[in-house]
Amino acid sequence: MAKRALITGITGQDGSYLAEYLLSEGYEVWGLVRGQANPRVSRLRRRLGDVQVVRGDLLDQGSLISAVERVRPDEVYNLGAISFVPMSWEQAELTAEVTGMGVLRMLEAIRVISGASSIRFYQASSSEMFGQVRETPQTERTPFHPRSPYGVAKAYGHFLTQNYRESYGMFAVSGILFNHESPRRGAEFVTRKVSLGVARIKLGLAGELRLGNLEARRDWGYAGDYVRAMHMMLTADRPEDYVIGTGRTHSVRELIEAAFTAAGLTWQDYVIADQSLHRPAEVDLLCADPKKARTQLGWEPTVSFEELVAMMVEADLRLLSDGGDPDQDSSWP
Ligand code: NDP
Ligand code: GDP
Repeated sequence: MAKRALITGITGQDGSYLAEYLLSEGYEVWGLVRGQANPRVSRLRRRLGDVQVVRGDLLDQGSLISAVERVRPDEVYNLGAISFVPMSWEQAELTAEVTGMGVLRMLEAIRVISGASSIRFYQASSSEMFGQVRETPQTERTPFHPRSPYGVAKAYGHFLTQNYRESYGMFAVSGILFNHESPRRGAEFVTRKVSLGVARIKLGLAGELRLGNLEARRDWGYAGDYVRAMHMMLTADRPEDYVIGTGRTHSVRELIEAAFTAAGLTWQDYVIADQSLHRPAEVDLLCADPKKARTQLGWEPTVSFEELVAMMVEADLRLLSDGGDPDQDSSWP
């Protein structure tokens, strides 16, 4: 019989890639979706006809219990979150409720329905938990010092997942994923903001691109590679946490240079550094040490930074040339 997966956050970037991947592996895939008429659900359905949906919200304990009871999944992937760091300062309490307490609610739903024994649980932890890093590259043992309400909420979910594993013997794991991107990335994140900005400038739709801190460094990988790692962690023999990243770090400035060059443009002619886009507290440098994932899971990234940037710029040039709107359903490559 096909294995059944329940994905929260299925309408987001990772949810879509994970659903595609699990369908290709023969899974029956269910997505938890919120709202009465979430427009991102029709986009998902057009793209992945075979996905089934169950209504629920990480803010609502009862809805999660009902969803787990109805779906009876073998695996739960908890990807749902307020995921944009600046928003976590604007709506700190909501971030704590969705990104932090949402993990507790989902773990409780699983515990209540399955007695904690049969359902495997994946938590989408984040390199933002490292924050002000004390060592680089970062491993599974690097201490956390989160620098945003988002990072703090993720640290809570991370420790809680460990605690449910230790308290109840649950197969519950956290993937500490470094930044991962794709043509489906939300337009507010820096990689997509840059690829869309470059495409608009190239096509004469814009004359400048305003950005914040150009010196911040991130370990950027391709989302399609990272969802494979989620599945590998959840189907491993033992429940353990893993760092997932490429092991290479680049500055925002290098990202901009690569993206403008991919379109045959000179970035200095268009980019305006805007102080108002700096954050109250910044994470200056992230760089993964993915050795444990490589040796224990056999996971390797397949897309380089340069390939990723070129892929995103090409996708946005195509999208805008075809008259697509990044905010509309049709725009999902
Ligand atoms: P997205 O922002 O693209 O997707 C977030 C998802 O969360 C959406 O499907 C959204 O659904 C859902 N969601 C928001 N609020 C709720 C709620 N109250 N109840 C249920 N679902 C909700 O994120 P990504 O796909 O990029 O990331 C997936 C996960 O991985 C997130 O938890 C993120 O924090 C984490 N992560 C991501 C990294 C990255 O680089 N992408 C790095 C490390 C961790 P809706 O359509 O209803 O808005
Ligand atoms: P994050 O690492 O999860 O916060 O992912 P983002 O893509 O939002 O930001 C990555 C880095 O890019 C952070 O250090 C930001 O400060 C930096 N950055 C610089 N300019 C911008 C901008 O205009 N938008 C965003 N989102 N980030 C920017």
